[in-house]
Amino acid sequence: MSRQILYAKPSITQREIDYVTDAIATGWGERCYDYLVRFRQAFAEYLGSQHVFPTASCTGALHLGLAALGVGPGDEVIVPDLTWIASVAPVTYVGATPVFVDALRDTWCIDPAAVEAAITPRTKAILVVHLYGNLVDLDAVLTIARRHGLPVIEDAAEALGSEYQGRKAGSIADLGVFSFHGTKTMTTGEGGALVTNRDDLAAAIAVLDAHGRNSKEKRAFWCERIGLKYKMSNLQAALGLAQVERLDELVGKRREVFGWYREALGDVPDLDWNPEPAGTINSFWMPTFILGQRWAHVDRDALLAAFQAAGIAARPAFYPLTSLPPFAADCHHPNSRELGTRGVNLPSYFDLLPEDIAYVADQVAEVLA
Ligand SMILES: *Cc1c(COP(=O)(O)O)cnc(C)c1O
Repeated sequence: MSRQILYAKPSITQREIDYVTDAIATGWGERCYDYLVRFRQAFAEYLGSQHVFPTASCTGALHLGLAALGVGPGDEVIVPDLTWIASVAPVTYVGATPVFVDALRDTWCIDPAAVEAAITPRTKAILVVHLYGNLVDLDAVLTIARRHGLPVIEDAAEALGSEYQGRKAGSIADLGVFSFHGTKTMTTGEGGALVTNRDDLAAAIAVLDAHGRNSKEKRAFWCERIGLKYKMSNLQAALGLAQVERLDELVGKRREVFGWYREALGDVPDLDWNPEPAGTINSFWMPTFILGQRWAHVDRDALLAAFQAAGIAARPAFYPLTSLPPFAADCHHPNSRELGTRGVNLPSYFDLLPEDIAYVADQVAEVLA
């Protein structure tokens, strides 16, 4: 079997090559921030966000955001159990304690009622994750957060281009973070962004992001506090600018690929696919199905092994973080456990052709038959 279908891959066109070539040839000296300025502006416009801080990673953006909120030792941050570890690792970087809560079975994202039940006098922030492009029930979470005076961070690393009631995921709560890792909807190689509409948070982030220097300070090298260093380079921003200019196309292709899967596998019963409830647009970063009751006899990992033998790089859904050694906790999160152990991510990237999807769909149907 010679066919190889990757799990994820960026789309690089002549535009990306031209911008990066220009940046490396001319983006120095007086022009050393040109692409960063343009990238910031284009990304802010795309999201409808006031302030954008490009970073070296989404993990770094989260560290910066938590620090700007003043989260520290003794504080608790409410987080979903079912997510990539990078959502939660930065909570530990600032010395705070993650408090894990279950997912809703229908959105696969954090359960707002469980968030409210987890609030204590030590809670300092709520971190939600738009998993695989699916949307968090933000109305409910933001209502609870407001009632308790707590800030909300949206991890939109997997939901660039998703929309909630007409607004872009990641631009709605107090802070939003994005990833431009090579597996994500747009890439800068490695990279990310921290965004906000709150001027007070933007001012705090600007100081932290510059090793503690305040732009109002006249003295060079005068640092008013210990900061962080997670800046994106101008070279990465050149790649990022080209990708932002193509975002509608990049997101559109993901939606098309998801549609192809649904069409090809529409006849297979009891597979629960990424939801797209009324009032939302799902960017379908990862086309994912959860094996239903009818497939209780099917071993998910054997299914993945069969895909691998057929040259298809499908992936398991995330392990609930409380099942991993760093966070090992004795907790009862049945939805996170079910979604995590019964979920399969299918390949999705720009260059996939309808016949690739047909091939993957054939394998899925065959293994389940
Ligand atoms: C990819 C990802 C991150 C981390 O992004 P990096 O840029 O690799 O730091 C964080 N959260 C979620 C949900 C992700 O999928």
